[in-house]
Amino acid sequence: MRTGLLRLDFRRGVNVSSGRVKLSFDSEAGPSVICCISHAHSDHVVEHYKSVMSPETMALIRSRGIRVRGVRPVRNGGHIVVGDEVVLALFDSGHVLGSSQFMAEHDGGSIVYTGDINTVETLLTKPAEVRPCETLILESTYGSPEYVFPERERVYGEMVRWISRCIATGEIPAFKSYTIGKAQEIIKMVNTFTSLPVVVGVSVAEACRVFNDAGAGLEYYPVNADEGLELLSGGGCVYVDGSRRRLPTWKRVRWAVATGWALRYRFDDFDRAFPLSGHADFPNLLRHVESVGPRKIFTVHGYSARLASHLRRMGYYAEPARMDG
Ligand SMILES: [Zn+2]
Repeated sequence: MRTGLLRLDFRRGVNVSSGRVKLSFDSEAGPSVICCISHAHSDHVVEHYKSVMSPETMALIRSRGIRVRGVRPVRNGGHIVVGDEVVLALFDSGHVLGSSQFMAEHDGGSIVYTGDINTVETLLTKPAEVRPCETLILESTYGSPEYVFPERERVYGEMVRWISRCIATGEIPAFKSYTIGKAQEIIKMVNTFTSLPVVVGVSVAEACRVFNDAGAGLEYYPVNADEGLELLSGGGCVYVDGSRRRLPTWKRVRWAVATGWALRYRFDDFDRAFPLSGHADFPNLLRHVESVGPRKIFTVHGYSARLASHLRRMGYYAEPARMDG
């Protein structure tokens, strides 16, 4: 389909082209395509030859030991001109440090790819920016009416209360979370609302260094350093890691998970599951669409069909993107 002189297709991913300019969004790209990578989570870091991403995304991907090729770093809020004709702008998606939405503009046509998006403020991120456009490619991870997240402050409150109860009974509260983004939000929450030290897994510590380079001010102790080991063996600390593991301590460890899926699914292997998400919930996805005011919407990931049908009932032209092989 066409938007001005821009062509959009969903063959094996999200692709936009105009003449010789070919862009792909979080989708595998051959040598003639510029791959736009929205953020550092592993399902968005795909094979490519040339890429555009924010410097923070680049640093976070590198912190995981992954090589990225031919990167042109562009800050959120900035833009580049591709092939003398297409303006490609990056702006904050609110999902994780350095996460970007992309807008491709050419000859009056404009397409925005949201990537993963969060429209509420967190301890470490600002709400996703709104830029009016003609065509919106919108993530729909939680695009179903049952996903209405509680106020973030309330979730923080429940997490802090659970931490306090574990500490009071001599146990170590531990969180399994995404290594990039959620882990740092939990660390910041513990730093902000308690005086407890935080011990973190090695991969979380690597990502934390990038966050602190960007001014996050996280205070933590890596598990493989002497101080981290001492804290764990003595107790009175919180542990955060990307996976659940046996910790070097005699203290009893209680594990919790923090994810939006906690609203609907049971996590029986965990002591607690907190609905803390880096994505917009259903009402906020609808609100975001209303603020952007696009003429066409294509939904990607998760509940794409359900969200598109709700948007159609609201009077929008909306379809799930059909990514044919
Ligand atoms: Zn993500």
